[in-house]
Amino acid sequence: CGIVGVLGSHEAAPLLLDALRRLEYRGYDSAGIATVSDGRLDRRRAVGKLVNLSDLLVYEPLTGKSGIGHTRWATHGAPTTANAHPHAAGGVAVVHNGIIENFRELRAELAEAGIGHETDTDTETVALLAQHYLSRGLSPRDAAERTISRLTGAYALCFLFEGEDDLLIVARQGSPLAIGHGDGEMFVGSDAIALASMTDRITYLDEGDRAVVTRTSLEIRDAAGQLVNRPVKTIHLDA
Ligand code: GLU
Repeated sequence: CGIVGVLGSHEAAPLLLDALRRLEYRGYDSAGIATVSDGRLDRRRAVGKLVNLSDLLVYEPLTGKSGIGHTRWATHGAPTTANAHPHAAGGVAVVHNGIIENFRELRAELAEAGIGHETDTDTETVALLAQHYLSRGLSPRDAAERTISRLTGAYALCFLFEGEDDLLIVARQGSPLAIGHGDGEMFVGSDAIALASMTDRITYLDEGDRAVVTRTSLEIRDAAGQLVNRPVKTIHLDA
């Protein structure tokens, strides 16, 4: 139900948790974060309140300055740890708000290629498909782009890749998404409130937009694949 992302200059986990806390008002049944540290992708997830996730992180910390986070409101699959986001497959992790309407068709297609699923969620299919394209030699950007082009339904998505600690790929269709600009840092949130303690400079994605985010760049394309400029707005929120 809430998405966050951080390409930071400090440890990402505390920032991700802070941003997720600001999204608690939306309601959720489970939560999780993933980071890239020394190129390695790792994740922690917990059912229930965010305190369960932050407690888990005390015993099993996640290092790394890049990461994604999620609070889930289950639509497909019970609110269990296995069904909590981020979903991961091989070298990719993904967080998702919304519903992938054609996940059963995509799942069947993946099954024909010998790729099985482990969770009951629609979202896992997105990670499996992206990993499938990665394994066929596509770059993270191309794999994400190809994956997004296959999806129908409503989504805000944020992808994080193994070996890529300066890259987030996001897409918005039917579910809002904001990019926050820091100084040599970039942030992603379901809304600007999530990012209030990190930045007040926000770019809202339009319907159908996809973006490649690094610490120093934001490249947005519209649904037709055209490069577009979306304004950076200074917003006023109580941090
Ligand atoms: N459909 C996804 C799931 O059930 C995402 C739900 C959400 O927006 O939190 O896992």
